[in-house]
Amino acid sequence: MMISPSNITEHKQDKHPMMRCGHAANGICTSMAGVKYSPGVPSCVICSCIDIATQEFDLTNRKARCCTLESERDSSLDLAFFEYRGPGSKQSIESCANCGYYEVAHNKPKIKSCGAFKPHGAYGYDLYYCGCKGWD
Ligand SMILES: [Zn+2]
Ligand SMILES: [Zn+2]
Ligand SMILES: [Zn+2]
Repeated sequence: MMISPSNITEHKQDKHPMMRCGHAANGICTSMAGVKYSPGVPSCVICSCIDIATQEFDLTNRKARCCTLESERDSSLDLAFFEYRGPGSKQSIESCANCGYYEVAHNKPKIKSCGAFKPHGAYGYDLYYCGCKGWD
């Protein structure tokens, strides 16, 4: 998909921009690795990521799931802890189809990976959090 410069600007002004890690921004970071940000920048608190994705992802016709089918929603960056797992996502590229571990884990003897990394490819569903385990 082509991204025009005006699109990027709009994207950055989103309340929940897509981060490089594949999560929609779920927090505001005011300091990271000794650097202070004022005002704070959008961040993913799960991955400690403050890089906004440079790629545009198509959420059309995608669904996001939490724990059950009843908690299925249309994929949207506004869902809590939304994680994109479609084509081109970090998850589709870096998770192993055989064992589910990240590619980097395959070089770590302590982790029982399959030992032969194979990219998973796009997942049929994205993820979000429906609140089933509370919000604290
Ligand atoms: Zn993340
Ligand atoms: Zn749930
Ligand atoms: Zn593996």
